[in-house]
Amino acid sequence: MYTYSTARQCPVCDSENRRLRYTYQYLGVVRLEITKCLSCGTYYVLRPLEEEFLSKYYDAYYEIDGPVQNDPLTIARYTISAEKRRHTFLANLPFEFDHWGAWLDVGCGSGLMLKNMGILFEQPMGIELSGSSAKFATSTLGMKVKHGVLEDDSFQQASFDLITFFDVLEHAINPKHLLLVASKLLKPDGWVLITTGNLHSFSRTISGKYWRYFTPLQHLTYFHLDALIMVLESCNFHNFKAYSSTREDIHPVIPLVNILKAKAIYNEIHALEEARLAQALGKSEGETLLQQTPDNAKIYHARRRSFYKMNQ
Ligand SMILES: [Zn+2]
Repeated sequence: MYTYSTARQCPVCDSENRRLRYTYQYLGVVRLEITKCLSCGTYYVLRPLEEEFLSKYYDAYYEIDGPVQNDPLTIARYTISAEKRRHTFLANLPFEFDHWGAWLDVGCGSGLMLKNMGILFEQPMGIELSGSSAKFATSTLGMKVKHGVLEDDSFQQASFDLITFFDVLEHAINPKHLLLVASKLLKPDGWVLITTGNLHSFSRTISGKYWRYFTPLQHLTYFHLDALIMVLESCNFHNFKAYSSTREDIHPVIPLVNILKAKAIYNEIHALEEARLAQALGKSEGETLLQQTPDNAKIYHARRRSFYKMNQ
């Protein structure tokens, strides 16, 4: 069973001065509100689901739609996405970066990025909240991955040359805490590399409520560039650059088509989110709720079948 966490302050500036922007409903029961901080403009989910339940949700996340299914098509899709990130990775390291020692990938998922880029480092390792994904990364890919969340005692202080957060900060209930921990785990001349959605991007402006990042079951904070800079400064980082990438903004042909189809794409994402939620709720409760949403039931059963195949 799920419960909601208490109302959050703004995760960027701690203000409680806010205005409701959007409400989303899942399986007819879970209701989540995205609010706008009136002090700094960050959008955030006011009362996300409790972290304990979210950990079940993240297991369902990969069990329904991740490489842990060991389905070749899904693995190919995730590998392509890891390849794309390789470019982001290399293009954004500072010119003078030459510390290919210890690399920590926070929220490493199934470890495909770690596998892809790990060869460049002496000690690549990851940490991942989803148990099934952490297991896939260690047993199938042979990577060093810890199951859990990043806390002060997760790793030795001042031991990493590079810490990466690829589409991770938006998932954290307290992103500032995550970055503060990272700042302590970094060596004095270490670097962090962060990617996250940009609230002020062109695609968000056009898509409004149907922006693909607005998935409040899992994405809890929506930064704009100035908000991200504010968070980094408050966590003792300096000498950084922050920018909006073209992937998220105007881009030839395909993303533009995606923007025009924003609502249809959003509905697909929403149905998948409901299927994951149903899986996390467990058999009796989840199945009952799914019966009320036939389209989602179809997605849920189609995706579960191949997962069972792997488990047998
Ligand atoms: Zn704020």
